[in-house]
Amino acid sequence: MKTIGLLGGMSWESTLLYYQLLNRGVRERLGGLHSAKILLHSVDFAEIEQCQVAGQWQKAADLLGLAAQGLQGAGADMLLLCTNLMHKVAPQIESQINVPLLHIADAAGKKIVAQGLKKVGLLGAIYTMEDDFYRVRLQEKFGVEALIPERSDRERIHQIIFAELCQGIFRDESREIYLEIMKKLSVRGAEGVVLGCTEIPLLVRPEQADMPLFNTTALHAEYALDECFSAETKDI
Ligand code: GLU
Repeated sequence: MKTIGLLGGMSWESTLLYYQLLNRGVRERLGGLHSAKILLHSVDFAEIEQCQVAGQWQKAADLLGLAAQGLQGAGADMLLLCTNLMHKVAPQIESQINVPLLHIADAAGKKIVAQGLKKVGLLGAIYTMEDDFYRVRLQEKFGVEALIPERSDRERIHQIIFAELCQGIFRDESREIYLEIMKKLSVRGAEGVVLGCTEIPLLVRPEQADMPLFNTTALHAEYALDECFSAETKDI
């Protein structure tokens, strides 16, 4: 079993999910007292969020790159950046390490393709929805088109993520807003919705939506578990 390095804390509400999913996944595979080999570097999310708001993406990449190097040095065989949004700087982080950084959009893309879908909605932080790094990857690597909500809905989604979900606040009213926005995407042709923010699964459960939801937190953890037990990468 390989060692998984987590770049977490963005926010810690969802990093907790990763810790639980990875450990449960190892128990399911190996049974008994087995648990995941995990190294965690948990950042102060406020520092990262300040970089986002100020557009200081290189500064954020430097901070995360340093953390990634630390995890690699401590023995991580692969890294998970436990947020969709900060994959905006995934290339800069990757350039500073030798171990694989398992991309969260790939985890989503593989599952969407496996389910035979071609067009999905994408909910997440505003940069995840509007910038190229996520949608273009889904399109180019997986042939999946990602529809994003209209501007006012994007702003509401983003505001709820940062003012509520990342602070451990889960309100029925906010869930209804998300479900309403998903319905609008469905009318526009979305066959499913990517929960492209690692905290959204804490608010919306699959049975509450009328179409398939792609829980990126769970899919990312699953991707790591597959890698963890694959013979291709270095074992320790
Ligand atoms: N956890 C969120 C995501 O998956 C947003 C928090 C952030 O990284 O800024 O995108």
